[in-house]
Amino acid sequence: MTRPVFRFAPSPNGQLHLGHALSALLNRRMADRVAGKLLLRIEDIDVLRCTPEFEAGIYRDLEWLGITWDQPVRRQSEHFPDYEGMLGRLIADDLVYPAFMSRAEARAHITEVQSPGHAWPRDPDGVPHYPGVEKHLSARKRQMRIDAGEPFAWRLDTARALAGMKATLSWAEFANEQMSSIRPVAAQPELWGDVVLARRDVPTSYHLSVVADDALQSVTHVVRGMDLFAATSIHRLLQELLGLPQPAYFHHRLIEGPDGRKLSKSERDTGLAQLREAGKTPQDIFHAIGLPGNRG
Ligand code: GLU
Repeated sequence: MTRPVFRFAPSPNGQLHLGHALSALLNRRMADRVAGKLLLRIEDIDVLRCTPEFEAGIYRDLEWLGITWDQPVRRQSEHFPDYEGMLGRLIADDLVYPAFMSRAEARAHITEVQSPGHAWPRDPDGVPHYPGVEKHLSARKRQMRIDAGEPFAWRLDTARALAGMKATLSWAEFANEQMSSIRPVAAQPELWGDVVLARRDVPTSYHLSVVADDALQSVTHVVRGMDLFAATSIHRLLQELLGLPQPAYFHHRLIEGPDGRKLSKSERDTGLAQLREAGKTPQDIFHAIGLPGNRG
């Protein structure tokens, strides 16, 4: 029998904080519960913001907490051809289009065309949907602009992609860490509009590479924070478009900062390295994240 595969997938663009400790530990505990593997994936496609120092910090913090993982570690920046291959399939299927507007141009366009009293749709992160005017360009015009060196991003034509779906999309979500029950959640990719799948400077995006890697690494269980719950809708759509298997999901509670806000990587008082330097023990961390009985 093949073993279940879990993954913890931090981005080395800052220090790990208590929220990452919860995510990593839940992954380890859930993997152990079903005799599964836990992979570590370094999500460093943003080569400008990700650094070897932050990556080294990830290993240090996980080791300090006593969390082990299976080899090899996958570093996304070493696999751009995999993502380009998947993007190439979506280009061939005419499911993506080159979007030439910068963020500021898109904003200006929206202000110009939106009718008073009608709110322009926004994605779950609060970003206005991309206007998508380029969808109506002829193939020749698109190519001329690309050949002329105009900057662009590849965006998913979400409406077209959904129009081709034979069944409604959903995913399986575990109710708890014990995985005692699982329920279907209806996916709503339309809430995102036309997401970016690749940029000029980075030939992929978070959505594309996470979906590609979960499949290429045979991940069966995706355990991550509630902040990514809405993104799962897009991931399910991409899995269908690319013919990839769908993992089961568990989106766990988030750890809030003292002010009730989401933790950020710049927050000094919740960074694992700072807490360690201040004399805290792994047990203190388990207690702080609400998993006091953990032995690491
Ligand atoms: N790399 C993402 C992050 O650090 C997590 C991706 C995922 O678990 O799907 O927030």
